[in-house]
Amino acid sequence: EAKLTGRGRCIEYHPELLAERQDRRNLEMDLRHAIERDEFHLEYQPLYHIESRRITGYEALLRWQHPTRGLVPPEIFIPLAEKSELIIHIGDWVLREALAQAATWNENLTIAVNVSPAQMRGEMLLGQIIGALATSGVSPGRLEIEITETLLMHECDMHLRTLHRLRAHGVRIALDDFGTGYSSLNYLRRFPFDKLKIDQSFVQDLPVNAESRAIVDIVLTLARRFRMETIAEGVEEEAQLTTLAEMGCQQVQGYLIARPMPAHKIPAEHRRSRATAGRRLAGDGTVP
Ligand code: C2E
Ligand code: MG
Ligand code: MG
Ligand code: MG
Repeated sequence: EAKLTGRGRCIEYHPELLAERQDRRNLEMDLRHAIERDEFHLEYQPLYHIESRRITGYEALLRWQHPTRGLVPPEIFIPLAEKSELIIHIGDWVLREALAQAATWNENLTIAVNVSPAQMRGEMLLGQIIGALATSGVSPGRLEIEITETLLMHECDMHLRTLHRLRAHGVRIALDDFGTGYSSLNYLRRFPFDKLKIDQSFVQDLPVNAESRAIVDIVLTLARRFRMETIAEGVEEEAQLTTLAEMGCQQVQGYLIARPMPAHKIPAEHRRSRATAGRRLAGDGTVP
């Protein structure tokens, strides 16, 4: 029932838009209670080192199990949380949960945690990370913070200072979804990242598309010149892995290796990966 009272108002009252907006508002309200109602959990996806054929760590990925809607994708609820201070609390929960989990892995496995640009708005992040590390007892060198290019678009000195301080504390910093944002090159001069994560959009058609191949090639050269590690995201097919290996990419992540999994599956995944790594090093060329 759109009421068309006056010019420009028709959009405001369009029933579908109204319903959609109401829906977002409801979702946001539910999101406010998600932590206390224990509706979040993390899944973990292996980071796989091509040459040694070993899993070197896991990326923590946030999941929200809504009581009536089921699993809500992070692409929907993270932007909602970013509009308020909610992302600060959620981000803190993720850090603590991921580090508590990593503390149970008694090896030198990396734990990669996504940090939203909005978490860097205030002065909270540095203290949260240092606090969470201390509580968990995980050594800072095992933590890899993943940030996206949108953060650096705003080129804020405060952000750079926070990154430098984290780095000084021993935390590693990875640049996520590389190649999809703006002004990708300028801030590489201003901040020395430890790792570049090549976005999955460049990986998908890599074996057949000359343009994607050229882009990945340039990114890998860039990373080498800046002494950054490289990991390609969204590797689903053997041909992509082979091409990336030939091109000199160091690590991969994707469904070919493993889908994100709940924490309790990690020990078995890890045993399996070590067994296959041994076999594959012995010369049988099968995929894990
Ligand atoms: P991301 O950090 O780039 O994470 C990679 C995404 O690709 C994940 O989606 C993962 O499940 C998916 N993926 C992994 N391998 C493959 C593959 O082989 N093929 C395809 N098609 N997809 C693959 P997910 O878990 O839905 O997360 C989406 C995005 O949400 C993440 O992108 C990240 O930006 C954000 N996110 C997830 N967890 C958190 C969090 O704890 N905090 C913040 N701030 N953002 C998060
Ligand atoms: Mg990520
Ligand atoms: Mg990514
Ligand atoms: Mg992404």
